[in-house]
Amino acid sequence: MKTLKDLVRNNIWALKPYSCARDEFKGEASVYLDANENPFGAPYNRYPDPRQWALKEKIAKIKGVPASQIMLGNGSDEPIDLIIRIFCEPGVDNMVAIEPTYGMYGVSADINNVEYHRVNLDSNFDIDIDAIFKAVDDNTKVIWLCSPNNPTGNALSRDRIRRIIDGFEGIVVVDEAYIDFSSQPSWLEELPAMPNLIVLQTFSKAWGLASVRCGMAFASTDIIELFNKVKYPYNINLLTQNFVSERINLVDEKNRRVTAILDERPRVMREIGKLPIVEKVYPSDANFVLVKVRDANATYQRLVERGIIVRNRHSVTLCGNCLRITIGTKEENDRLIEELIINN
Ligand code: PMP
Repeated sequence: MKTLKDLVRNNIWALKPYSCARDEFKGEASVYLDANENPFGAPYNRYPDPRQWALKEKIAKIKGVPASQIMLGNGSDEPIDLIIRIFCEPGVDNMVAIEPTYGMYGVSADINNVEYHRVNLDSNFDIDIDAIFKAVDDNTKVIWLCSPNNPTGNALSRDRIRRIIDGFEGIVVVDEAYIDFSSQPSWLEELPAMPNLIVLQTFSKAWGLASVRCGMAFASTDIIELFNKVKYPYNINLLTQNFVSERINLVDEKNRRVTAILDERPRVMREIGKLPIVEKVYPSDANFVLVKVRDANATYQRLVERGIIVRNRHSVTLCGNCLRITIGTKEENDRLIEELIINN
């Protein structure tokens, strides 16, 4: 790996971050007159903990990663944007990503005016290692991997991910938004040995808290300190911090719901696979499944007319005539299957 100083933009390396009142005084006091807050209306009159330590301590326990190696964001979309702003000089540096994958990496690259090279997955939707390394040049700062991958649904092979982390001198992001639905282990356990690795996870999927907006980045303490320099000081509001803190106690409930989704997944795949309009049901390690049909636009439109919304991925690279279907409740899945049978 190159040194962090070599990888980080010069202005970010030199940045003196904003110091907020809650950074300067830590601890308990009886009178707070330091932050121009309104004295009435506790607890929401006060600014929240900018580093969210109480919530991070709880996350640290269930993830087995020290709190100092965790950054929380407004969804994982926030760390995605921050990674680009920390490491990539607009108009100079570039990034490499698998294709197809989650669309926000490319959109955030465009917003930041950072070149984004897409490298097609192979015919098994796995990483084409040689093509990835061929796309890397001296100005490549970040490689984006997503496993299980959206929209293909499969976990990328562990061996190929490892070869990229070991062989690339810059930052490798492994986005694990769907890891709780996967048979593959998380890369979190490898973090101590991999200083160039950033793992992203989220409360939006397995935890069922998409509306609450809380994503996680796990990395070396040095990288987490860079996130802390650049993020908005109070990026996670107190309502979210408190709510996630409570929900995180209910791991068993989360696991039951994940199990319910995982129990439904093979049934949905089997039933959909029987239909003559369906050409292929791709393997899934996520809470959704990619399905190739005869005419994705027509099937999509018919489902919309019946009040069922799936994601039409027809225009996405390697996903011609594919629909991405989220696994719902048993009743929702039954409705979908019935409509597909009727409209076959
Ligand atoms: N990563 C992947 C792979 C996703 O599919 C999504 C959302 N669909 C996200 C990240 C963003 O999730 P959030 O911002 O809700 O944490």
